[in-house]
Amino acid sequence: MSVEEVHPTLPIDLFRRAFRRYANGVTVLTYSGAAGTHGMTATSVCSLAAQPPQLMVCVNRAARTRDLIVEAGRFAVNILNESQRDLSELCSTAGGDKALDASVTDPDGAFPFIRTALASLGCHVIQVHEGVTHSMIVAEVDEVRLGRQSPPLVYFEGTYNTVRTLPGGGQVAPMYEQLFDDMIRSYS
Ligand SMILES: Cc1cc2nc3c(=O)[nH]c(=O)nc-3n(C[C@H](O)[C@H](O)[C@H](O)COP(=O)(O)OP(=O)(O)OC[C@H]3O[C@@H](n4cnc5c(N)ncnc54)[C@H](O)[C@@H]3O)c2cc1C
Repeated sequence: MSVEEVHPTLPIDLFRRAFRRYANGVTVLTYSGAAGTHGMTATSVCSLAAQPPQLMVCVNRAARTRDLIVEAGRFAVNILNESQRDLSELCSTAGGDKALDASVTDPDGAFPFIRTALASLGCHVIQVHEGVTHSMIVAEVDEVRLGRQSPPLVYFEGTYNTVRTLPGGGQVAPMYEQLFDDMIRSYS
């Protein structure tokens, strides 16, 4: 074990390095207001329940998006595919203009869905819990749109990646589905 690993007070860098090894799908949160439609890249997104369908996103309290989503009371979570790295970079540039026009998001629906996303979930905010640096925004899902099947964009070790199926992976997936269903039943 390295000195760093047994340090009595947890070094922040060690915490960060551990979480860089946690691979996440990349999403862009989109929301509309008086200034049009904007997006913010986020990986801190998780499913909370299927019945009723709820999810949670963690948004930095210093990010513009936090207040704008809470004020709007509704937003969309768009799960990106592997060809959407540019969009992720655009929507994660600190202080950058993250306006998305009608070529990127669909202006006609109830939610500003990204046209080419793997999947989009339109939600309304039901709770906001304040953490030290981030707000945990809990939302109920009103609409889901599934896009064309393609490999996802994944963030791992600070770089963009995608996934590959391991040999026999097709047999693991149904087992996971069953575990996930059991977990949801046990919470509902
Ligand atoms: C793969 C990936 C995943 C991410 N996941 C999340 C996530 O789950 N949750 C989350 O909250 N963030 C996440 N981020 C970061 C987030 O996308 C960015 O912080 C984004 O810029 C926020 O957009 P905004 O317009 O809401 O806020 P911004 O206005 O861009 O502000 C974001 C931060 O940058 C600072 N800032 C503003 N202007 C400047 C400037 N000119 N120069 C330097 N700093 C400035 C602000 O004070 C604030 O701290 C992720 C980024 C990446 C790349």
